[in-house]
Amino acid sequence: MPDEKLPAILFELLRCPADMAKLDYDEENNALVCTECGTSYPVEDNIPDMLTTDEDQGTTDDG
Ligand SMILES: [Zn+2]
Repeated sequence: MPDEKLPAILFELLRCPADMAKLDYDEENNALVCTECGTSYPVEDNIPDMLTTDEDQGTTDDG
């Protein structure tokens, strides 16, 4: 099986959506880890999942 790695250019382009900090690649967990806030983004098929975030569902009371 070919051992494909993420191209270095990705690391230059990808930034943490929360604080725009650079990301480090964690080989053990196969994830990108933010160097600022420590948030980790799982990498699947060499594509970092940057869109999976916890969205706060705001509920409004209709009186
Ligand atoms: Zn961050």
